[in-house]
Amino acid sequence: MYIEEEKSVPAGFMAFRLGELELRVVTDGAVPYDSNCFAPGISRSQVNALWHDHYMDTKTIALAHNILVIKSHNRIVLIDAGNGDKAGKDAGRLPENLLQAGIPVNAVTDIVLTHAHPDHINGLTDALNRPVFPHAQVHVSKTEFDFWMSVAPDFSNSKNSKMTLSAMQRQAMDFFTVCHDRLHFFSGEDKLFGFLQPLHAPGHTPGHYMFAITSGNETFIHSADIFHEEVILFAQPDWGTIFDTDFALAAATRKKVLEQFAHTRQRVFAYHLPWPGLGHVRKINDTYSWIPERYMTPPGY
Ligand SMILES: [Zn+2]
Repeated sequence: MYIEEEKSVPAGFMAFRLGELELRVVTDGAVPYDSNCFAPGISRSQVNALWHDHYMDTKTIALAHNILVIKSHNRIVLIDAGNGDKAGKDAGRLPENLLQAGIPVNAVTDIVLTHAHPDHINGLTDALNRPVFPHAQVHVSKTEFDFWMSVAPDFSNSKNSKMTLSAMQRQAMDFFTVCHDRLHFFSGEDKLFGFLQPLHAPGHTPGHYMFAITSGNETFIHSADIFHEEVILFAQPDWGTIFDTDFALAAATRKKVLEQFAHTRQRVFAYHLPWPGLGHVRKINDTYSWIPERYMTPPGY
């Protein structure tokens, strides 16, 4: 008989090392999306033929939100900040899971943004628009800042609705306004903090960046929003999502990155792929697939 002695809290984080760096993956939770957000313009029967073997339900696709935390001797750096309180009860869990990982919000020194979409920036401010991480400096690409703060960003190459895109812009503008005195811009030329190399990957947004994280001779890549799910966007990288600001450019970048990852068998971290988002890309007969890392015991066991 199963005896429940004490309710244990499930681990909202996992820890690993890269050379001198201490890393955590912390979950912000999951958000379900209407599956029509994926492969716009492609017949649902074609899409479902690929999804059928992988998902029990293809009406909604849940996306993970994996936040990478990097501890060096004098910094605690987060890459992106999740959904905050704006995406339902199963998301916005970053602060409580960070604390579980031994990191209170006021200990975070830096937050580096891959791009300024709501599911990456909304966790930086609370319902009253106050900073959640009071001592954190915020780093974003200048291209990304300029795009969202412009009077009329070019949304003509997106397959998303004008209403959603305008709402996204309002959230980005509010966020940049609240954080204006803590903003720092990067261009991709220089490494941040000595271990984080920004890699421009335009299309999803104009200033969308991946990051190479290096310590000693070890490296892995944070792939940001190059792929949002692990089935159709690997088998058919052209099919894309409505989330891409420039649909065609995002597809071209996705294919280029997939090819490079498959060629190098590079360890990859992915923000939206199933927890904890670590794996590599394989290519067989011109088809890419995601190979998640395998854990034989719970992390930290
Ligand atoms: Zn995203």
